[in-house]
Amino acid sequence: MKDIHLFQPAFRTDECLYEIRQCLERGWTGLGYKTLEIENQWKRFTGLNNAHFLNSSTSGLFLALEMLRDRHSWGSNSEVITTPLTFVSTNHAILHAGLIPVFADVDQTLNLSPTSIEASITSNTKAVIFVGIGGNPDNYEEVVSICRRNSLILILDAAHMAGSYIGTNHIGHDSDVAIFSFQAVKNMPTADSGMICFRDSSYDQEARQRSWLGIDKDTFSRTNSDNHYKWEYTVDYASNKYHGNSVIAALALVSLRYLEEDNTRRREISTLYETYLTDLPEIIPIQHCTKSPSYTSSRHLFQISVRNVDRNLVMSELNKRRIFPGVHYRSNQNYKPYQHFVQSCPQADLFSETLISLPLHIYLDNNDVRRVADSLAESINKCRYKI
Ligand SMILES: *Cc1c(COP(=O)(O)O)cnc(C)c1O
Repeated sequence: MKDIHLFQPAFRTDECLYEIRQCLERGWTGLGYKTLEIENQWKRFTGLNNAHFLNSSTSGLFLALEMLRDRHSWGSNSEVITTPLTFVSTNHAILHAGLIPVFADVDQTLNLSPTSIEASITSNTKAVIFVGIGGNPDNYEEVVSICRRNSLILILDAAHMAGSYIGTNHIGHDSDVAIFSFQAVKNMPTADSGMICFRDSSYDQEARQRSWLGIDKDTFSRTNSDNHYKWEYTVDYASNKYHGNSVIAALALVSLRYLEEDNTRRREISTLYETYLTDLPEIIPIQHCTKSPSYTSSRHLFQISVRNVDRNLVMSELNKRRIFPGVHYRSNQNYKPYQHFVQSCPQADLFSETLISLPLHIYLDNNDVRRVADSLAESINKCRYKI
């Protein structure tokens, strides 16, 4: 019996090697060249105004929070409303910028609940970070209006949202900044990289400078300006090294070509799971795009919440059947850096203990999906609490 893993990145090897070969033959593997190409292609694909290619989406989140803090002179009592149900990058970025994370609760979509956000706003609130879990755009539009009404900055952690749409618009148009991840197991895989897309072009300019230690011009354009390397530059910010490089951009260029095709298959697999998982009341599939028929999810994840069983036992039963699911996510309030931020989030706590992400990648055929569904039913039947 073959192993069925949670994620398996799809690389089109020959196309990737062709793109990488171009970097090597040209003798340019760094910032510029393919990084500019992927930025242009990403802007064309999403219709977003600006795009800057980074070494990860974590870098993008850190950069966004640092820049917003400095531009708006946010002091150390400034609060950012966020979700406990996310990868820690989201919330580390708030702490790293010296700001206060205020945890609002999620609802059955796993995304932040608009009601809970509104209840969390204080006179110190500066921004909201919204995470579209698994690519799901539900609640995003409501959160956009809340931010507008309350003059709050909206940061979209779009790590799962490459290829998610509101109507015909790619996600991200209404946020002040949207940050995408092209990490190896995300739905547009490279090795590690990400894209930061500011609405305002002056932010994009500053991001380009800050992402390379605050240096005012990248070497590639200096080299090309008059064909010999100019050594002079000025430094305006003491910032980190966050920019991406041409070898990884080469992988992103190929992944972007297949993004729509791959997401279509992800959505098919998710629909299959939904049709196979209707029998047991212990399984609650997390549905996407429930708030409007015009929404499209990238379907980076297919998640279920399990009830009346021990989630961890169900996972071990699945492992015995050579199926390796995951959990996205445990509430960040379980982790040491967040233990002092004690807002009560009962829904996030419930999901933290009950979520399972089922295998979802384009190497699964329909029989594999069936096998996962059947094995899950068997596992639930073995682990049901006796009352
Ligand atoms: C993966 C992920 C990130 C970080 O992405 P990297 O590109 O690996 O830095 C941030 N937020 C969420 C929600 C993620 O899933």
